[in-house]
Amino acid sequence: MSMHQPIRPDWTCAGCAAAWPCPTRQRQLIAHYHQAPVSLMIHLSGYFIEACQDLRQAAAGTLHERFLGWPAHIPTEHWHADAANHIDDARTDGQHHARS
Ligand SMILES: [Zn+2]
Repeated sequence: MSMHQPIRPDWTCAGCAAAWPCPTRQRQLIAHYHQAPVSLMIHLSGYFIEACQDLRQAAAGTLHERFLGWPAHIPTEHWHADAANHIDDARTDGQHHARS
């Protein structure tokens, strides 16, 4: 179970306090759904609907981009089996960036 789960009703990440889905969770989701992008969108749609109920003051377009728009911005080279390797990098984000 990932540490990077949403805390409702604020939809911040329990693992890193970023707006959820945080970059780490996005990488984990890509790794998990890399062969099933349609399933990923269905999965994210569930969160989107819940977030719309919790974050009523937020614009629907903003929430749509936050929950459903981000996979389109993930570089295509991440959409393969090796993407799972990035999960380990994500756990040590600081070291990862220092290394590169
Ligand atoms: Zn996180």
